[in-house]
Amino acid sequence: MSRIILNSELLNKVFDGKEISREDAYEIYLEAQRNPHDLHHTAQILRNKNKGKLATYSRKVFFNLINLCRDTCSYCTYKVEPGDSKISMMGKSEIAKLIEIGKKFKCTEALFVTGERPEQRYGIATDWLKANGYSSTAEYLIYASETALKEGLFPHTNAGNLTKAEMAGLKKSNASIGLMLENSSPRLSQKGMPHEFAPSKNPRARIRTLENAGSLSIPTTTGLLIGIGESPYESIDSLFEIKSIHQRYHNIQEIIVQNFQPKPGTPMSGAPQPDEKYFKNVVSLARLIMPEMNIQIPPNLSPHSYAGFLNSGINDWGGISPITPDYVNPEFPWPSIDTVERNCNMAGFELRARFPTYPEFFPMVDTDVRSKMLEIADSERLVSEDYQK
Ligand code: SF4
Repeated sequence: MSRIILNSELLNKVFDGKEISREDAYEIYLEAQRNPHDLHHTAQILRNKNKGKLATYSRKVFFNLINLCRDTCSYCTYKVEPGDSKISMMGKSEIAKLIEIGKKFKCTEALFVTGERPEQRYGIATDWLKANGYSSTAEYLIYASETALKEGLFPHTNAGNLTKAEMAGLKKSNASIGLMLENSSPRLSQKGMPHEFAPSKNPRARIRTLENAGSLSIPTTTGLLIGIGESPYESIDSLFEIKSIHQRYHNIQEIIVQNFQPKPGTPMSGAPQPDEKYFKNVVSLARLIMPEMNIQIPPNLSPHSYAGFLNSGINDWGGISPITPDYVNPEFPWPSIDTVERNCNMAGFELRARFPTYPEFFPMVDTDVRSKMLEIADSERLVSEDYQK
């Protein structure tokens, strides 16, 4: 890597290929308060070295399977209560119909999202699952995933904390699994904090799920939610927690760095959005702490900053759907894939479609899922351009 002149000894250490410690990261963060340029520049060079000038995304269909949830987070509008007009409990025929539409639009990812174990809180969910022949949301997720895979979509399940046995069942049909750590600080679960009424967001529970996914060799997407009351040091600690899981299990394929958006009608409706400088500095620190990691920000939540985030060290835009809304953030429509591509090109990047599994994680995927992906993959294990025509 060509050496640049940086004022910071620590950033020069990164250029010499040395790992930075947690204390180093704190110091770099503090220095970036005064001069963010060197941090972003270092992150860019590390991204270029490890990922080149390629930005990826996953063309997806969002299956809003069951949006009831046993937990309550202070910022969430995804979860609804029984009787709400936005309730979603997708039956088998609805799933089949959406799979068909997804195929027509050349999507490759079937994103299956549910709240946390709805059946533990709501009789309506238990009864509905039972009427369909299932005793848990996880069982229904396995059915939905197997159906999507059979039809040529590649499932990525995001259903909160799953047990090891549930994940082992999903591994047979899923290309990857997602679980946001959000933050590793137990402080955010204390009284008056956003996870006070969400035991599933207890960092120990989340870390255990990520470790279990690792012990099952499942490519795993996780990430941080920025701006929910954490300190910058807690965000840095969270990145080191994810790094530690990955060093032990080698399963973390991607880190999403997501900015909190206040929503009307939630207890956090009056909370400010995170400062963009802080957000970008965390993105760059993620690259410095894990230079080879895939780092994503969702483009619908920061639609005016394509070049700014590419210049902070990201290499991916996550799942983008040409047909379904982002049910977690429905107020923020996804940009068109053409818009993302145009902005990437203007910033000097090529945009390519990937599978829910990143190319380097293909060997971890179940044989059946992998062979189906390889049927429409190119030599770099990205979605072949022929398939998308
Ligand atoms: S666990 Fe997820 S779905 Fe449930 S309230 Fe929290 S953010 Fe919403």
